[in-house]
Amino acid sequence: MPDYLSCRLCPRRCGVNRTLTAGRCRQTDKIRIARAALHMWEEPCISGERGSGTVFFSGCTLDCCFCQNFEISQQNKGYFITEDQLTDIFLRLQGEGAHNINLVSPTPFVPSIIKALDKAKGRLNIPVVYNCGGYERVETVEALKDHIDIWLPDLKYFSAEASKKYSNAEDYFATALAAIKKMQSIAGKPVFGEDGLLKRGVLVRHLVLPTLRKDSMKIIEALSENFAPDDIILSVMSQYTPMYRAAEHREINRRVSTFEYNSVLDFARAAGFDGYSQERGAATNAYVPPFEGEKLR
Ligand code: SF4
Repeated sequence: MPDYLSCRLCPRRCGVNRTLTAGRCRQTDKIRIARAALHMWEEPCISGERGSGTVFFSGCTLDCCFCQNFEISQQNKGYFITEDQLTDIFLRLQGEGAHNINLVSPTPFVPSIIKALDKAKGRLNIPVVYNCGGYERVETVEALKDHIDIWLPDLKYFSAEASKKYSNAEDYFATALAAIKKMQSIAGKPVFGEDGLLKRGVLVRHLVLPTLRKDSMKIIEALSENFAPDDIILSVMSQYTPMYRAAEHREINRRVSTFEYNSVLDFARAAGFDGYSQERGAATNAYVPPFEGEKLR
């Protein structure tokens, strides 16, 4: 069972005692969340008609310079809650009609999340979603195997140069791919309910970045080499908007062009993956464009 005493929950492996101090993720052992509410802006198989019961945890294991949620992930916006309160939040969201419990950026709080889910056992009967940046340790994924139904990792970069430059994680790709392989080995192929919603499986998200469409294609190639097309669901996202510190890098200080996005989408379709695309043209700081279709192809 993972704990906070010498924290190695994520690939940063700080080794700090979080009962005494914060780690690189800026979090101690006190659970800090920024928001817990029904959320409609995930892929349709997650949000459904009533919404996903989303809990946004403060802090992050990555330092993405373009983070849309930078106030929560990088600037520690949020408030402290106890494990019992987290259990109550899960049950409250279920009572409000949530199709699932959606843990956003949960990695720094895995020990508390496991305990809160254990306390909800027998009362919480909707799937639990692990919504993360992909920068995970295989050991932490393994520790979660009895508590998570749906894995929702990003796969952001292939290039170590890009992952270092934009997220301060040079080892991102190999680390994230190993974690996603572990997630898929635990969850198996996607399982949908009669309501069309995902009940179990892995949905990999890839956000296309300006100037990096070739990097996107290498990611899709790697997914093809490691997974059968029906092993995972792939969501190719167009919503990149330069926010937070993105302006420090001129090449990513713009939206993704239609050509860039469509070329990646065509590549994903040719690889045979099922999944989602996103409408172009609607992304702004305040608006996430809707996901389209049940299938990429
Ligand atoms: S979860 Fe936080 S404290 Fe623990 S290893 Fe990762 S960055 Fe360090």
